[in-house]
Amino acid sequence: MAQQPLLSLPEFGNVSTGSLVVKEPLNFWGGKRVQAKDTKNSEPVYEPATGRVLCDLIFCGENEVDQAIKSAHAAFLKWSKLAGMERARILLEAARIIRERREDIARLEVINNGKSITEALADIDVSWQTVEYYAGIAPTISGQHIQLPGGSFAYTRREPLGVCVGIGAWNYPFQLAIWKSAPALACGNAMVFKPSPFTPVTAVVLAEIYKEAGVPDGLFNVVQGGAETGTVLCQHPMVAKVSFTGSVPTGKKVMEMSAKGVKHVTLELGGKSPLIIFKDCDLENAVKGALMANFLTQGQVCCNGTRVFVQKDILKPFMEEVLKRTKAILVGDPLLEGTRMGALITKAQMEKVLGFIKQAKEQGAKVLCGGEPIAPSDPKLSGGYFMSPCILDNCRDDMTCVKEEIFGPVMSVLPFDTEEEVLQRANNTTFGLASGVFTKDITRAHRVAENIQAGTCFINNYNVSPVEVPFGGYKMSGIGRENGMVTIEYYTQLKTVVVEMGDVQSLF
Ligand code: NAD
Repeated sequence: MAQQPLLSLPEFGNVSTGSLVVKEPLNFWGGKRVQAKDTKNSEPVYEPATGRVLCDLIFCGENEVDQAIKSAHAAFLKWSKLAGMERARILLEAARIIRERREDIARLEVINNGKSITEALADIDVSWQTVEYYAGIAPTISGQHIQLPGGSFAYTRREPLGVCVGIGAWNYPFQLAIWKSAPALACGNAMVFKPSPFTPVTAVVLAEIYKEAGVPDGLFNVVQGGAETGTVLCQHPMVAKVSFTGSVPTGKKVMEMSAKGVKHVTLELGGKSPLIIFKDCDLENAVKGALMANFLTQGQVCCNGTRVFVQKDILKPFMEEVLKRTKAILVGDPLLEGTRMGALITKAQMEKVLGFIKQAKEQGAKVLCGGEPIAPSDPKLSGGYFMSPCILDNCRDDMTCVKEEIFGPVMSVLPFDTEEEVLQRANNTTFGLASGVFTKDITRAHRVAENIQAGTCFINNYNVSPVEVPFGGYKMSGIGRENGMVTIEYYTQLKTVVVEMGDVQSLF
């Protein structure tokens, strides 16, 4: 099949930092791109690495959301009747196309999001693997047979929900659209997806790929907008489920709106995860783990282990090594292969992160390195939102930087003495997304995993999230799971069919 140009940009694939202007409509429903009409309701989208405007994003209003949902519903009626094998075949083709175009999609993601090309390529690889994984599961979705007395029996059917809404955050734009749509479509649902207004660009690429792979028009749709558009989506009576990724305050609103319509809801929210490093760890691996837990995507990762608890006996060598490696992180043009950290998502986000660091200093923390805005030498990047990765020492559990999600490249180091003490301190948070432990003592590792209050515990590594593994939060970090087999339960409903083989035993 001939390769379609992404977003119809003839130069696409050769775009470099500072060269992309998006003129095409970024909404997609009924199998084609659609231009939203209300030009008064729009906001500029910036390229994080340069500060240039990529496009003016027009937000979808009530009518437009309604059209997208209706086209999804019409497609659902056809798609849900296909055999799992037929859905799988189409999804496998979508996975193949994503894999074939991984570099083009990754470049687009970098330009819109600011993360390094190395990370963006990894995100796109996770994306096609996710589509492949759920394509493989589609034909296996089935119910149960239950034998009853007298030859009667019951069986269950695992049926799709209908039109599902996906609402994404800006840190993994393409991957989040896939984490939601791949299981949803595999189960026989349709989806209307709303990306973050900061990163609207790659979702429409996904919509075009699904179409090219053979999904019916209307099955996967993209509407652009912010809180208002999101509200219209959550309140629409034809929507059966909302799968949301974002902050805790917005998650609460989404849950409240969904409750009014008794809609299914999955919430993937924020975190302030603990990483516990015991003195018997492999120090080099623990340091590498701490860096992976804090500086991926410029620290803008929900499950980051930003509270790094280090046993006092190894605090000095840990600090020396972590500092040496942090100072060596190359921050700069995200499209260059050697770059390890790109730009933060917006100017406002960078200012918020710098504000957290200032407050941490006022509360007694010591900045060991970084925490400053950076102006890369390349003049085209002078308007970009770059900052140096920061290590905070002298932290206490009651400091704002230790209690609140910063969502930037800031690691807070907290010394501890005993396992019992560190578990109590690690669990003393309203969040519960992830956690990590570095130790060579296997019984200790599993004891910590058992007693930590979080949806994931990484032992001797951090931030490893392959699609086979369920992902989601405890406490205020969320409800439901994404990835893994279990997600099938979150995109289906169970019907029980009871079959009488004898006569009705009536009491009347
Ligand atoms: P956000 O809550 O500001 O926005 C998330 C999405 O919700 C956006 O698409 C936004 O437009 C939309 N939205 C805003 N108000 C809405 C409303 N009233 N109704 C419906 N939709 C609405 O979050 P963000 O700043 O985009 O992302 C950062 C947050 O996301 C962090 O807290 C981070 O931890 C979290 N996150 C969680 C995961 C996870 O899987 N647990 C993954 C990535 C990000």
